Amino acid sequence: MKICVLGAGVIGLTTAWCLAEAGHDVIIVDRHASTAKDASAANGGQLSYAFVAPLASPATLLKLPSLLLSPNSPMRIRAGLDPALISWGTRFLLACRPTAVRETIAAQLALAALSRSELARISHSLMLSFGLRTAGKLVVFRSRRQFDAARRAITGETGEDGQQVLTPAECLALEPALRLDAAKLAGGIFTASEQIGDCAAFCAGLTFRLRRQRNVEWLLGTDVIGPVRSGGRLVAVEINKGHVQAEQFVLCMGAASSAFARACGFYLPIYPLKGYSITLTPPPDARVMRHSVTDMERKLVFAPLARDGHTAIRIAGIADLESSNTTIDTRRVDILRRASAELLGIDAAGDVKPWCGLRPATPDSRPIIGCSPLDGLFINSGHGMLGWTLACGSARLTADMIDRKPEASEVSAFTLRRAA
Ligand SMILES: Cc1cc2nc3c(=O)[nH]c(=O)nc-3n(C[C@H](O)[C@H](O)[C@H](O)COP(=O)(O)OP(=O)(O)OC[C@H]3O[C@@H](n4cnc5c(N)ncnc54)[C@H](O)[C@@H]3O)c2cc1C
Repeated sequence: MKICVLGAGVIGLTTAWCLAEAGHDVIIVDRHASTAKDASAANGGQLSYAFVAPLASPATLLKLPSLLLSPNSPMRIRAGLDPALISWGTRFLLACRPTAVRETIAAQLALAALSRSELARISHSLMLSFGLRTAGKLVVFRSRRQFDAARRAITGETGEDGQQVLTPAECLALEPALRLDAAKLAGGIFTASEQIGDCAAFCAGLTFRLRRQRNVEWLLGTDVIGPVRSGGRLVAVEINKGHVQAEQFVLCMGAASSAFARACGFYLPIYPLKGYSITLTPPPDARVMRHSVTDMERKLVFAPLARDGHTAIRIAGIADLESSNTTIDTRRVDILRRASAELLGIDAAGDVKPWCGLRPATPDSRPIIGCSPLDGLFINSGHGMLGWTLACGSARLTADMIDRKPEASEVSAFTLRRAA
């Protein structure tokens, strides 16, 4: 079948790979001249297979007023009375129900497990080099209440190979790069099996491999303008240079997916959640960072990424609701700079490659993977905070559903129906 993948971020590229591998003729369209230029360019680098809790939860609901009103809060709304945000926000509040949270965690854990094995398979078979490493992840908690709740919610195995509950002193002994005062910590949870990897380097390697496939055609530097329908079916997309025809289209345009869906005549609950990262080279006298670390209270992640023979530290986080604005607000970057000094003792005053990206967020944090109301258009989008983690599993499901493989035919946890 001739299949057109709309968008060449990590979701579009992995989808294109799984479809090409299955023998389809694939066309990849993206507005940028190269791949992975938007949300997939400089994310936190965490492959977070065990920590998949959604943003919407009873705890977030309780903290929402303080989260939204404090200037240094990791979350902020600046979208005014955007009708799209009001629709999305209403669904977000509903997704905070405990039953919805439990369903999301179960669905995300299963998709994360599939993603882990697919990432291993793809990167091994293509010999991709992107610093993939089972570094383990330490989540540190400052509030006793949050820590106790997290201990109760441990989902996987416990013990040395699973998840370990640590005292503040044990956290600092495990990760000597941390310069936190033990008295300010409530404790931590360490998951030895969690991985890290450079998403942009993975995308670059996959792009290189896709370029060598005879059944893959590229249309980069090409803006998707809107749908072309015939007999109630999507038969082509209008681009700045004419039309692209295909038998099937897969929507992977990240935060821009909802605008395309609107043009197709249906509502797709994906809203941009703007985040920031900085990438710094630690000074020679800095202590080596061994694991990835999440500061739960500040919602910030720290990952030591292997880069051309040296280690760079990626610090990422912040979730601002301000529509599709991609300008870098230096005051938000300062939150990450201060975190570098406070947690790692590294002065990040110089050039630290500040970056921002729009996470394509659904109200319940689950991606939307499945058929759309418009025949000929399949959706694989809305991966929010976990797009790097969930990309390979989502691509596998997409390819299997398009090929009507029985085991993938009805994955109701990710359908548009459950989210809309
Ligand atoms: C600060 C930050 C930290 C993060 N940290 C992590 C992490 O540690 N672990 C994790 O798992 N995930 C993380 N994420 C999430 C992850 O990066 C995203 O979920 C993922 O990159 C989304 O990929 P995507 O392909 O859907 O979107 P994108 O990468 O944004 O790709 C969408 C593509 O569609 C193209 N496009 C859009 N509109 C059009 C159009 N009209 N015409 C043509 N092309 C178009 C764009 O050019 C773009 O290339 C983080 C995100 C951010 C912002």
